[in-house]
Amino acid sequence: MKFIAVHGGAGRRSDKSVRSKALDAVMKALDIGIETLKSGNALDAVIAAVVSMEDSPYLNAGIGSALNLIGEVEMDACVATEDSCGAVAGTTIARNPVLLAKRVMETDHLLIAGKGADMLAESYGMSVDSNEFFITERNRKRRKEAVKVLLGETEGIPEEKIKKRNEYIDRVYPKLRELIRHYSQYISFSDTVGAVAFDGEHLAAATSTGGVFLKLPGRVGDSPIFGAGTYVGNGIAISCSGIGEQIMKTTLAKNIANLYAFGLPIELAVKSAMLMASKEFENPSMGAIAVSHEGITIYHTSEAFVAGYAKLKGSEIVERKVSDVWR
Ligand code: ASP
Repeated sequence: MKFIAVHGGAGRRSDKSVRSKALDAVMKALDIGIETLKSGNALDAVIAAVVSMEDSPYLNAGIGSALNLIGEVEMDACVATEDSCGAVAGTTIARNPVLLAKRVMETDHLLIAGKGADMLAESYGMSVDSNEFFITERNRKRRKEAVKVLLGETEGIPEEKIKKRNEYIDRVYPKLRELIRHYSQYISFSDTVGAVAFDGEHLAAATSTGGVFLKLPGRVGDSPIFGAGTYVGNGIAISCSGIGEQIMKTTLAKNIANLYAFGLPIELAVKSAMLMASKEFENPSMGAIAVSHEGITIYHTSEAFVAGYAKLKGSEIVERKVSDVWR
């Protein structure tokens, strides 16, 4: 048997029209992943699925990425197999961050961040001219609303000033903590993307994200951190979504893999690790997809988790489902 699962993020349930667009984008990615998996390997399948979701403006990766506090996009991505891993963090110009992560995988390094990631994207001809390329009107609006909640101001501070003055960050930072703790609905729109696959022999996982809304410039989430948001090892491949700080603090993906290695069935390993991790937080928001030779598990403690999976016998699809609630 071959397995593939994809996700379009764990978070709160968005309104009906946005939800259906996100579900469509995840369905399309699943189909692309299935087609690739029919004749190709797990690594090619997860990359093809994630590239397709990075290209969707309705998901938080590549085009459509979340905006940081100063209104710019900084993207993180990771790709992994049993043998290797590559990741990028804080890239502002990589056209498809997951493809850049694949390039890093081919070097001796594991994670390239910020300026270095952008330089690498340029030197491989994988960059776009401007960060604006990734910014959608919908996200500009979302950021404005979140800033309004944060500062209690309608118009806020003019964009030029926001970019120039550290004072803005000083003013906002203490409130940002408050916002994350008590009003996560304004920033955890989620829609991060990921895929995991088993091609009958090998496993692969990939995750890509713009991170959380209003993050401080330079903030890196769990997605590119091997063992936190993405992991392959101990016979299991995992991609997570949710509030990165929670996932990093609890090394969620590695804990799932440890429980699996300990002998728990895949479903129980995912569920136990996530419930244990969630107990540590007031407002836990996490989701994960996992595959092994045994099968597929999709689970979340967030309100919603847009995800889908397929099981294949040779080229025949024997099971296929996409949904935004899995518990
Ligand atoms: N985990 C991502 C991050 O914190 C966000 C998400 O999954 O929505 O960067």
